[in-house]
Amino acid sequence: MQTTSSSRPDVIDFVIVGGGVAGLRAAIALAGIGQVLILTKADATESNTGYAQGGVAAAIGADDTPALHADDTLRAGDGLCDESAVRVLVEEGPRYVRELMEWGATFDRDAHGEPALGLEAAHSRRRILHAGDATGREIGRTLWKRVVTLRSVETINHALVTDLIVENGAVAGVRFFDHAGVRRSVRAHATLLATGGAGQVYSDTTNPSVATGDGVALAYLAGARVSDLEFVQFHPTALNLSGAPRFLISEALRGEGGRLVNSAGEAFMTSYHPDGDLAPRDVVARGIVRESGRTAGPVFLTMAHLDPARVRRRFPTIAAMCATLGIDIAADPVPVGPAAHYLMGGIETDEWARTSLSGLFAAGETACTGVHGANRLASNSLLEGLVFGARAADAMQQPARTAPLKADRVIADPPRRDPAANPTGSDRRLDIADIRSLMWRAAGLFRSSAALAEAVRRLDEPDAAPVSIDRHAAFTAAEWRRYNLLTVARLVARAALRRKESRGGHFRADFPARDDLHWRVHVCDSMAPNV
Ligand SMILES: Cc1cc2nc3c(=O)[nH]c(=O)nc-3n(C[C@H](O)[C@H](O)[C@H](O)COP(=O)(O)OP(=O)(O)OC[C@H]3O[C@@H](n4cnc5c(N)ncnc54)[C@H](O)[C@@H]3O)c2cc1C
Repeated sequence: MQTTSSSRPDVIDFVIVGGGVAGLRAAIALAGIGQVLILTKADATESNTGYAQGGVAAAIGADDTPALHADDTLRAGDGLCDESAVRVLVEEGPRYVRELMEWGATFDRDAHGEPALGLEAAHSRRRILHAGDATGREIGRTLWKRVVTLRSVETINHALVTDLIVENGAVAGVRFFDHAGVRRSVRAHATLLATGGAGQVYSDTTNPSVATGDGVALAYLAGARVSDLEFVQFHPTALNLSGAPRFLISEALRGEGGRLVNSAGEAFMTSYHPDGDLAPRDVVARGIVRESGRTAGPVFLTMAHLDPARVRRRFPTIAAMCATLGIDIAADPVPVGPAAHYLMGGIETDEWARTSLSGLFAAGETACTGVHGANRLASNSLLEGLVFGARAADAMQQPARTAPLKADRVIADPPRRDPAANPTGSDRRLDIADIRSLMWRAAGLFRSSAALAEAVRRLDEPDAAPVSIDRHAAFTAAEWRRYNLLTVARLVARAALRRKESRGGHFRADFPARDDLHWRVHVCDSMAPNV
């Protein structure tokens, strides 16, 4: 992998922040067009992409069609998907998945040599291509292998991008700290944010440490619109063992017959939803918490009734991880519980990854294309990264254009600090761990006005009000990390407080019903006066 830094010019054609599926797919498409620079925050393969287990969804089965895939996606999105973006995803998706196979991605095969298609929650057909239980690693491997052969693509790893260069209302590149902590910048004709998810805004998450939502903060602070940030998906089945990481126990285990049971060994999900263990993720997540409260005990996933050899063969990564903790997934009950997993909202884009700022593009988990609505259908995000990463590359070659505000989107009133709330910043300054646990408590699976209002009050520090980025020119890398995380946390908490209904991943205990009359809209935040 190229990790040069001295030969890089200060001006480049295309800069891509992020080396996950979206950034890499874009880089491959741009390589023949001009010079491309990929910046990643850590090791090249450290990304949500690298941890994806279950698979990538695509309507390639004989009994499947893009229209059926679209129906399932729209149903999961709970009334807030952008239908034309969904059509793009499901119709173009199969082509990009086939292309990956042509580039050498090895997905599991059935007895006839065709891709073995798995089933996951809320999918009406088997359409999940998988590589064991490490599909993301295989996709990342395939894309990186191709990228390193491209002479016009350079990569700098361990580069923390902190803010965007904005000139005359347009984005002209990025500023970053390199691996040695040196402050640097690079100017570009077009800038793509492909920075992935924001799970690390919460104390309990399946996401790796790089997933701090930086793209959302960078875009928002530069003046771009961000949208739907109240919609966070909490995965129901992260490993729930004291002292162990919240390692994901993929939904594919339930797709293959795994069952959720309470501490008495009783299956319980059908008392919460007719689809039982394969109900939508938010329903299963809340079902687990409620059952755990009702029985005052933990909840487990059991595979003990299935063929043990097949279980271990199909899920080698999960089996190996659990084995290090003394759990045999084929025989023992695995303690599970919800954890923050996926951000449905993000930087608002059109169907070509254009944002509301000229020169700035966004793709993958950091973008809000509208394909996920209020809740993401399992295995649609790797697909989104492929499809919209490639589309971003197309748009980045075109004359600059911005994404107009769509008809079903409204812009929230600009945030106003309540001067009486914390007038002198007298509350103790929140560090990153404080922010993360506050978000888990107040803006997690069960939300309420009182807890969210208190969280917003705490997050609204006087020195954290969104002001000109120049004010932060002297920030250290650590200060930038905290500031950008705080910005994302504040946006998520404010959006969750604002939406007075429950829909998809957003559940308000004080407004438990979906309210289409008032809330079938996407709400955007923006600092710019003219968006
Ligand atoms: C445990 C787990 C399992 C999952 N399973 C599935 C699955 O089975 N199927 C599915 O479809 N989806 C799954 N997902 C979701 C999916 O993996 C992600 O949504 C998707 O991979 C995101 O890809 P991306 O390209 O947008 O970002 P990522 O793959 O997260 O890449 C982000 C990149 O941005 C870089 N970056 C971030 N901030 C900065 C910064 N400030 N400066 C420089 N670089 C930065 C990072 O270093 C990284 O290279 C899973 C996620 C997790 C965490």
